[in-house]
Amino acid sequence: AAVEAVAEQVVAQLREACATPAARLDRVAAAMEEEMRAGLREEGGSKIKMIVSYVDNLPNGSEEGLFYALDLGGTNFRVLRVQLAGKDKRVVKRESREVSIPPHLMSGSAAELFGFIASAVAKYVADEGSNKVLGGKQRELGFTFSFPVRQTSITSGTLIKWTKAFAVDDAVGEDVVAELQTAMEKQGVDMRVAALINDTVGTLAAGSYNDEDVVVGVILGTGSNAAYLEKASDIPKLEGELPKSGNMVINTEWGNFSAPCLPITEYDEALDEESLNPGEQIFEKLISGLYLGEIVRRVLLKIATQCSVFGDVDRTKLRTHFNLRTPDISAMHHDDTPDLRIVAEKLAINLKIADTTLETRKMVVEVCDIVTRRSARLAAAGIVGIMRKIGRGNPGDERKTGIAIDGGLFEHYAEFRQCLESTLAELLGEEASKSVSVNLTKDGSGLGAALIAAAHSQYA
Ligand code: ADP
Ligand code: MG
Repeated sequence: AAVEAVAEQVVAQLREACATPAARLDRVAAAMEEEMRAGLREEGGSKIKMIVSYVDNLPNGSEEGLFYALDLGGTNFRVLRVQLAGKDKRVVKRESREVSIPPHLMSGSAAELFGFIASAVAKYVADEGSNKVLGGKQRELGFTFSFPVRQTSITSGTLIKWTKAFAVDDAVGEDVVAELQTAMEKQGVDMRVAALINDTVGTLAAGSYNDEDVVVGVILGTGSNAAYLEKASDIPKLEGELPKSGNMVINTEWGNFSAPCLPITEYDEALDEESLNPGEQIFEKLISGLYLGEIVRRVLLKIATQCSVFGDVDRTKLRTHFNLRTPDISAMHHDDTPDLRIVAEKLAINLKIADTTLETRKMVVEVCDIVTRRSARLAAAGIVGIMRKIGRGNPGDERKTGIAIDGGLFEHYAEFRQCLESTLAELLGEEASKSVSVNLTKDGSGLGAALIAAAHSQYA
């Protein structure tokens, strides 16, 4: 019993440190709104970049024609072809091909990498068959490039740095659209890059295509980010003429948000210090799928070092970073077997914790619950911050507000999704939350890019 009391104390402290009562979330939303304003005021005005996407028109369903998209962000890239047929018929055809990038090209030269991509596009275009662009028009493509770029227009952006497994050094500082465009010309492909976007902006576009009330797009997957539709006149740092539409999509890069009001624990601090990017992406480290399992692992390790509820375990696996992934904690959290068999399995397989009592397994589920609830509630507070910035969700407002969300965390983790939705209702109030809808919106980086290309077509 003394052993259980020690473990329970660690969990009680975690519960306390992760608490997100409405009053605290209100401060988080207010801080998010404040940082957004600071980031819009001037370049570098906030930790969140508030990147001007140069997307000033979201698709509304009237788009027509054949459009291509290219989705580059991981070890595979995809080429898509989408046939749009206007308001009633919508997407009448949608095809895609996935191509894996040979590892040596991921750290070679820009010419080789973009040459390889362009040749894949050329092959894909060659199979166009009866899908030809009508009337001698030039083909148009939306390019989803999920690396940090500094954009100067809808069709240009210089690469700030590579992330993930890419290290094509001579591409840094170069315009990735020009690189792609040149490479496609060399391959003899008659294709114009009509838009350069990231996956968050694509999600917003795909969401708004399905439902014109959608004004916010959110990614809750491996990482987290949000984009939304802002009034161009509310962006002091926007130079030059205001867009005709009066609107501008802002890519917030909210993953880098941080504020003293965030509930940060000793586990989060250690995770951050030992991460690849210490001090950066603090909000993302509290809420996104890459980290939730890892936070839980750290809590379980602490319990194992303080007492013997897990028995006499070899802690090698418990000490191994990322040995518990978010899909694992999701499986444990949703375990509805009477004896929590799935929890027992995950603990045994992932962490070499073989013998546990039912009480201990319940305690592990509670740790998952605490970490995931904090994540979902903070994500909801972030969304409320954006809504406040654009004056949405106020009592008496007739307008509907749609939030398009993509990402494996939101899609597959039901407890997370439900908690996010109920927290939104809690923060907005019952009346206002009736006018807000949250929708899973998949394939923003594919379909969304094609739609933005259509909305920014040279023929539109
Ligand atoms: P990405 O964000 O890398 O583009 P996804 O949107 O598919 O890719 O999200 C993948 C992430 O979603 C994984 O890294 C994981 O954190 C999370 N995830 C995937 N499956 C589940 C699951 N069953 N339960 C909880 N989270 C999951
Ligand atoms: Mg993704």
